[in-house]
Parts: sequence; structure tokens; C-alpha cells
Amino acid sequence: MAFDINMIKGVYAQMQQRVDSARTIVGRPLTYSEKILYAHLYNGNPAVAYTRGESYVDFRPDRVAMQDATAQMALLQFIQAGKLKTAVPSTVHCDHLIQAKVGAKTDLQEAISKSSEVFNFLESVSNKYGIGFWKPGAGIIHQVVLENYAFPGGMMIGTDSHTPNAGGLGMVAIGVGGADAVDVMAGMAWELKMPKLIGVKLIGKLSGWASPKDVILEVAGRLTVKGGTGAIVEYFGEGAESLSATGKGTICNMGAEIGATTSIFAYDDASERYLRATDRHDVAEAANQMKAYLRSDEEVYTNPEAYYDQLIEINLSELEPRLNGPFTPDLMTPVSKMKETAAANGWPLEVEWGLIGSCTNSSYEDLSRAASIAQQAIDKGLGTKASFGINPGSEVVRYTADRDGLLKTFEELNAVIFTNACGPCIGQWDREGADKEEKNTIVHSFNRNFKKRADGNPNTYAFVTSPEMVAAIAIAGRLDFNPLTDKLVNKNGEEVMLDAPKGDELPTKGYAFEDNGYQAPVEDGSIVDVIVNSNSERLQLLEGFKPWNGQNITGAKLLIKAFGKCTTDHISMAGPWLRFRGHLDNIANNTLIGAVNAFNQDVNKVKNQITGEYGTVPDTARAYKAANIPSIIVGDENYGEGSSREHAAMQPRHLGSVAVLVRSFARIHETNLKKQGMLALTFADKADYDKIKEDDTINFLDLTEFAPEKPLKLEFVHTDGTKDIILANHTYNSQQIEWFKAGSALNLIKAGKA
Ligand code: SF4
Repeated sequence: MAFDINMIKGVYAQMQQRVDSARTIVGRPLTYSEKILYAHLYNGNPAVAYTRGESYVDFRPDRVAMQDATAQMALLQFIQAGKLKTAVPSTVHCDHLIQAKVGAKTDLQEAISKSSEVFNFLESVSNKYGIGFWKPGAGIIHQVVLENYAFPGGMMIGTDSHTPNAGGLGMVAIGVGGADAVDVMAGMAWELKMPKLIGVKLIGKLSGWASPKDVILEVAGRLTVKGGTGAIVEYFGEGAESLSATGKGTICNMGAEIGATTSIFAYDDASERYLRATDRHDVAEAANQMKAYLRSDEEVYTNPEAYYDQLIEINLSELEPRLNGPFTPDLMTPVSKMKETAAANGWPLEVEWGLIGSCTNSSYEDLSRAASIAQQAIDKGLGTKASFGINPGSEVVRYTADRDGLLKTFEELNAVIFTNACGPCIGQWDREGADKEEKNTIVHSFNRNFKKRADGNPNTYAFVTSPEMVAAIAIAGRLDFNPLTDKLVNKNGEEVMLDAPKGDELPTKGYAFEDNGYQAPVEDGSIVDVIVNSNSERLQLLEGFKPWNGQNITGAKLLIKAFGKCTTDHISMAGPWLRFRGHLDNIANNTLIGAVNAFNQDVNKVKNQITGEYGTVPDTARAYKAANIPSIIVGDENYGEGSSREHAAMQPRHLGSVAVLVRSFARIHETNLKKQGMLALTFADKADYDKIKEDDTINFLDLTEFAPEKPLKLEFVHTDGTKDIILANHTYNSQQIEWFKAGSALNLIKAGKA
């Protein structure tokens, strides 16, 4: 079963009661996302009003979605939790490990044979623990979630940053790390700082070449890549109600590019149409009974300034197409300004590739609007000057688009149809000649355009735009082509113009498919064996970390004193290391290899105190571990910023580190360290960072009295015989101290004590 209507009805029943109580407790009307948040409190009925941007709140999301790259470690940890089934409905989607090269058929087979071990593992774990499994080729996680699972008023987490796509159908959907997914699947609380709220009022109506993508490109231009941090972006207004559900999904999806916690639209007629078109009439009917709860209270709409922390207004009637880039998604250029802007910046004008796809823009509506441009080109005697590629968002979209002739139209224009998967959006693109690193331009309908992201070439200038603009630019072959004003010369030497795109919000003959790629788990998971080859280099079953022995830790060695910025990328790099995400011991070979050693300003070169020689961080850590010597990491400000990647906490733990002592932590990483049984400590006096010496031996003096709000005393013994006693603060509550004592939060879950 794709979704559980009884679960949704249950959510709605408790939503009514909880929202009514929350309104009384908060003492004012509520916005839509506040209603969803208060309806999903872990402890049930709201008891206090939470302060946005300050209070940490425990939530109980309705479901979990995981993609194949992140699901590996999430599920390896879930196996450790010792549960029979996931506590909430969960799904795995095989979409990231499929390369685009020559076309769907060949590429998909190639990916299946290359990553069969990982796919088989994900399939068997899904089967065992009651998790829905979407096979390779079924589609991109967020499109599949929108088609099958997203529902208005719901709350979900996903192990992927574009999980907010489901906000297009009125869900609070948030991207998280695998450890968070494990907590929710194990039935534990999921903590989030009560987000701030940014209101975006949409007035007017899109027309001509303007599309939902241009709304979010405009928002990104205004707010920049950090502007949404810690906030939910709520869209409303007459303009919001004029957009399709998948168009709203596009806007919410790319909210990740402004750092927003998530983005959301209220339930409306377009949501109902989409639910019915995707064969979820019962969800639509249940939502119709709840309409007043599936939107903000009316006072919020009439006086939004009073309810949002920040308010923006965009007039859709005035919007023209935009291209954001290169190298960052917030560098926004309206199409009418591209000629002068590109010339002024020296951006290569000749476009080599136009790519349509990604979870952002691969819906039926997207393909139909782009196909209308392709059809015009065929009818008007034009061809494509750039290469052209399409990744449909899901098998349902692909099958339907094929039935309706859209794919044939693209193919007539020499487009390659790649697999229903992420493909070039995540760098899974075997682009011919990319290794020559030549300066070139591509346009795509994806969400991110950082250097090297699509093809690994740092000199590829990638611009993000709408699918219809990608089609027009692939035809014209020029970055500065403005289809609203510019003519093209056809095969007969005549000047022609492209008319504005036309498309169908939903397929007029309905969605169709033969095999949507879904595989339900077996009823009795106990009969399923999860097989991991002990010689595998990509997968490794986890062993629980050892519990604390109850003694003060003594004789620890300094592994590294990291200098300056040390993000989760410095601690556990991505890129080529992605393939080891399911193998803790192998990926641990990248531990802290990007961190700068404060004593020599080198990366990945630290002193091994046993030999006195310098070596890599992983080798040095392994040497200490082999000698039964615990190690300690010292860091600077905001240590562990970046992603919620749990590998950055698991790897040092695996290599024998027991504590991370820093000037300050990025909060998610601090929590991840706690979950993995590490001591996450901060200098009570930040100046003490300077007292740490390269050859220090460290003794904990009062770990045996570890208690909430009581700093710990650490003795740093220097080689000249002098000592410094350093006071270390921590934020462990009594439950988290139990995680430390048990060796990890997972060990406690396993013991049934969490
Ligand atoms: Fe992430 Fe791109 Fe895949 Fe979307 S299509 S989930 S952005 S890799």
C-alpha cells in the first residue's frame, strides 16, 4: 500500500484538538506551519508556548524517507537498534547511484550491476523492517514522495536536503541526517529548534514564459543562500493559489538553497486536484474536512506583518524568466539583463548542454511545458545547438509523458532521455570531455550549481533556470538568448520566434504506469536475512560502540588541534568517499583529512606521540587505537558546521577518540557526537585553546561525577612536566549522559531503555 489513510485520519483527528489548545496557549492566531508543528509534539497536547528561534522542541514526525546514498548508514544504525519494524512508515528510494551516460536503458543496467551490492542490501533491510522500497529507476525520492506520500498537514523527515519538496502539498518536510532518521524510525523524539517564520506573499498570476521556478529564483536572489537559515518559509496569497501542486513543490524544493528549514504552501484546490490525479481521493476527502486547519488562521492573512518574523511580497504578474548562477544559486539575472551581465562578467555565451530534470523540475507539467517549446522548434524548422538531456522525475511521469508523446518530441529534437534518477544533478554524469576541464556553459533546471557539481569540471559555468528556458536555450545555443524578444534563424534561413510555453498542470488522460518500481515489504520480516559480505568494501555491519567503563579516562593523547573552520566536510569529506558511506571502517580513512593542524598549519599531518613522527590523521588515530590509547580532538569555533552527516561523529569514535573539546560547536554535530557516545565539550574559557600543546597527555579528573550542568575538569600534562587544569563545559542532560555511559544512544535503544 502506497499510503495509509487511517494514519492520515489519525493525524487529522489529533490536529484539530492540538491546534485548538495551541491557539489558546500561544494566545494568538496561528500560521499554517505552527499548526502542523504543534500538532506533532512528541508528548501530545501542547503545554507551553514555544519561542521561535529559541526553544528546542521534541517532535513526532509521521514518516521518514531515505535515498540510497544516505540510507546505507541510517539503516546500518537502525539494524543496531534491535527493533522488529520501523515505528513510522518509512521508504527507501534508489536514485543517487545511477549515472547518466548514453541513455536510460543502458545506464540503468550499468548502475544496477555496479551497485547491486548496495541495492540488494537496501532492499533486504527494507523487507526485513517493513520499509517501502523503490527500486532503481522508480524515480527521484522527492518526486516519488510527492506522488505517493506527501499529505497536507503532515510532518516528515528525509535523509536528503531537498525533502522540503513535499511542502508543495502542504507538509512540513525537513531534511536531516541518518541518525535523526534512526531516532524517528525507532520511535524516539526528534528535536528541532522552533523555527522562525518568513512569509512570502504572492500576488498576481504567472503568465507567458514565467514559471514557478522563477519565483524561487527570485526569492533566492533576494534572501541569498543564508537568508532562510533556521526558518520555515510560508507562501500565501492569491498568487499561491494560482500555482499547481508540482509548481509549489519546485518552489519548496529550492528553499534548501536559501538554507531554510523547510518551505510550505497551504492546502487549496490545486492540492486537491493533485491528490485526486495521483489516485488519493480519500486523502483529498479527509483534507477537505480539515480545510480550516490546513491553512493559517484568517487574521494571519489579513495582517501578516504581525505574525511573521520577515515578510516578502512578489508580484507574479511582473515576473520574467531568470537564470541563477554561475557557481551559486542566489546570483540571479533576469533574462532581459543576461546580455549585458554575461558580457560584463565574461561568462561563456555558447551553451554546450541543456539539462531538464532533478527533483526540482521533473514533473509532468514541467516536461509538457518544455515539450511545447521543443515541438515549436520542430514545427518552425529549428534544431538544437546545444546537447539536450532529460531525466524524468519518476517512472509514473516517464510512462505518462511517453504515452502522451512528450518524450518522442524531445527525441525528435535529439534529446537523450536519461534514467528517472538524480543523474547529473548529483555529479552522476559521465560527460564526455569533462576531464579536460575546459571553460564552458551549461543550463539546467536543477537546484544547485556549485563548482564541479554536475560534471566534476571546475570550469563549467552552470546556470539554473526553468525547464522551458532550458529547452529554449538548448535550441538557441546561447546563454544570452531571450525568447521573449529574440529571433532565431531556421533551416530555411527564415527568422522565427518561439511562442510562450504551454503545458498541462496534470495529464489530461491521467497518470499511468505499468510498474512504478515500488516493492512492498513482506508481512513477516523475521524470515528475511540481511546479507552483507564480510569482504565488501562498500558495506559493513556496525558493531555497537563499547560502553564507558565507569572510570576517569586517563593517558589520552591529543589527536589534532584543529585550526579555524572545521566543517563536517573537513571531518568526513564527500566526493570520492561517497562510495564508502556504508562502510564505517573504510570511510574512517578520511577522518579529519581536511582539518588544518594548528601546530604546523598543514592538513592531514599530525604528530604521532608514540613514534614522534608525523602522519595522517587516520593513521595516527589508528596507531593510538591499536596501542589502546584513547585520543582527543581539540577544535576552534563552530566546529562541525555544515551538514547533519553522522559519519563526522561516528568516524572519530570508531578510531578511538573519546572527546571533542572546542571553542564552540555547530549544534547538530554536537548532538551527533553525544548520540555516538562521545564527550562533546567546550572550553569554559575560550582562551584555554591556546594552552593545548602538541605533545599533551590528557587526564579526566572528575568524569566519574559526570552530571548535567556540572563542568568537567581535564588535566593537560605537557612534556616539560607542567600541567594545565582546564574546565570544560557541556550541555548533556541526564538522558544524554546515559547515552555516554551506554556507549551510544543506539545501545540504549537496543537495551530498551531509550
Ligand atoms: Fe538531490 Fe539532485 Fe537528487 Fe534532488 S535530484 S535529490 S537535488 S541529487
